[in-house]
Amino acid sequence: MKIAVLSRNEGLYSSRRIIEAGRQRGHDIYALDYMQCNVMVETNRPGIFYSGKPLELPDAVIPRIGASKTFYGAAVVRQFEMMGIFTTVKSMAIVRSRDKLRSMQILSKHGVGMPKSAFAGSPSEIKSLIKTVGGPPIIIKLLEGTQGNGVVLAETINAAKSALDAFYGLKANILIQEFIKEAKGMDVRAFVVGNRVVGSMVRQGAIDEFRSNLHQGGVAKAVELTSEENATALSAAKALGMSIAGVDILRSSRGPLVMEVNSSPGLEGIENSTGINIAETIIKYIEDNVSMPHRDEVGA
Ligand code: ADP
Ligand code: MG
Repeated sequence: MKIAVLSRNEGLYSSRRIIEAGRQRGHDIYALDYMQCNVMVETNRPGIFYSGKPLELPDAVIPRIGASKTFYGAAVVRQFEMMGIFTTVKSMAIVRSRDKLRSMQILSKHGVGMPKSAFAGSPSEIKSLIKTVGGPPIIIKLLEGTQGNGVVLAETINAAKSALDAFYGLKANILIQEFIKEAKGMDVRAFVVGNRVVGSMVRQGAIDEFRSNLHQGGVAKAVELTSEENATALSAAKALGMSIAGVDILRSSRGPLVMEVNSSPGLEGIENSTGINIAETIIKYIEDNVSMPHRDEVGA
């Protein structure tokens, strides 16, 4: 099968591992820089050009779209979808997953457990919103932050107010959220492929750090999920329309709470901590789900 990994850098661990696993299973698999793909929109004839020439179409694409390239990357994935190419993550799911508020709204509608969250367009209602989410302390999040960089823990109303003023002053969109203290700087990452959790780890933040992100000094180790956590991860991925997802869960006293769902989850932490060949499960998932009618036509 011909598989394109939509990635800007094939040297990155995740892209490299997926390509390796694909080759091991006998596929023609390669990285395709989606920023070099030009989308042609014409009545009834969607097309993609690469370096000025029509792109030879793969049978499937695996999007690995960087957070700063969501708009363009999702447009390229959408174009592949319109041309009937199988994608492991739909463009709609990529766009949804990059907006924390939108993801929360969808998850809440599907009954998935989550920390109490609120969104305010102006600072005037802040005091009552802080109360609504059960604080202080509260968590303040940039809607489009990643790797723990846009997440603040405000211990008091005053701290919350000044952090919120700063964010509003920068015209940033933010979410305020109940602080799950009992998680103690730890979260669970469930890696979903198809309708199964194929690997799971806990990440523990550095001492005195409430954020567990590996980029903030957190460390990962393999963990067995409870059946409730397993079910929560699967329903979160399903609600957002993702067949491959990294679901981040906080262990709270009222059960698993989903914090975010990642549409391009990294493989390095999860493969190294669990020893599971996650890249291969992704390739097998494609093998099981891609029908190749055009190949049959050629053969007929
Ligand atoms: P990012 O997209 O930047 O990773 P997250 O929403 O995943 O942002 O938050 C980063 C980290 O902060 C999480 O992995 C978790 O450890 C911690 N965290 C986030 N939200 C909460 C919360 N409501 N209560 C407790 N800890 C939280
Ligand atoms: Mg996170």
